[in-house]
Amino acid sequence: MNEIITRNIVKKYGFKFSKGLGQNFLIDDTVLEDIIQAADISPEDLVIEIGPGVGTLTKLLLKKAKKVVAVELDDKLIPILGEELKEFGNLELIHGDALKVDFNEIIGEEKSVKVVANLPYYVTTPIISRLLKGDYNFSSITIMIQKEVAERIAAKPSTKDYGALTLLVQYHCSVDVIRKVSPEAFIPQPKVESMVIRLNKLPAPRVEVADVELFFKVIRESFNMRRKTLSNSLKNMKVDKDKLQKAFEDAGIDPVRRGETLSIQEFAKLSDCIKSAL
Ligand code: SAM
Repeated sequence: MNEIITRNIVKKYGFKFSKGLGQNFLIDDTVLEDIIQAADISPEDLVIEIGPGVGTLTKLLLKKAKKVVAVELDDKLIPILGEELKEFGNLELIHGDALKVDFNEIIGEEKSVKVVANLPYYVTTPIISRLLKGDYNFSSITIMIQKEVAERIAAKPSTKDYGALTLLVQYHCSVDVIRKVSPEAFIPQPKVESMVIRLNKLPAPRVEVADVELFFKVIRESFNMRRKTLSNSLKNMKVDKDKLQKAFEDAGIDPVRRGETLSIQEFAKLSDCIKSAL
């Protein structure tokens, strides 16, 4: 059903897809239903949708939520969305860039806020980083993203997918993998497989650290050259060699280990010991 509706809207307005804006519209009913179910929308919720396209997912969200604020960058889609979704009084359409809009202004005093999106893949990581680092008041992010990125987000230590993105997301959230999605679920079909995941914001970050900036700097440096030992990778931190050695000892972490073997708790311990040694 959604396939016919979406294809008809595209045809009616003579809409031309932009590859540059990551426009792959979802047409598979079961995938749309699974996203809606995973997002667990109730009538008290404000939903922020990033990139509504021609409004296929938006329409389903509007039926469940108190209000949907949809942020769309493509100016050609704004009049289409306005016309196709005009029957819904609970939609606010923002013509803007999800990397720049003021989410605090959108959220205002709302108590129950959820983010839902079939993300444009070219900006997946910057959008996720922005949503998590901004300390915004939302409880979950249900997103469709490229399968490889989803695997990095959900990864465990000592695997090839485990890295700085894993730790950024898992510092703030627990991760539920909802389902895989094949290219046939979209028009036009992307070249990659996709996955729906749900990030549940933790009431407090997963680990307590003395200096959050330093914690993420240690993580970045540890993964910059994955094959190097920690003592080699962390040379770039410009910490005195003896002090770094002492930090490893205090943290009980062998400096010949590679960054990818450290759990988030071990990164927290190491960065706190580096901080004390400085
Ligand atoms: N939600 C629709 C669906 O599921 O069929 C469309 C999803 S499509 C993968 C991504 C959408 O994000 C497109 O409508 C695109 O124009 C929009 N978009 C791309 N970059 C954006 C940005 N920086 N901010 C907001 N929207 C963006």
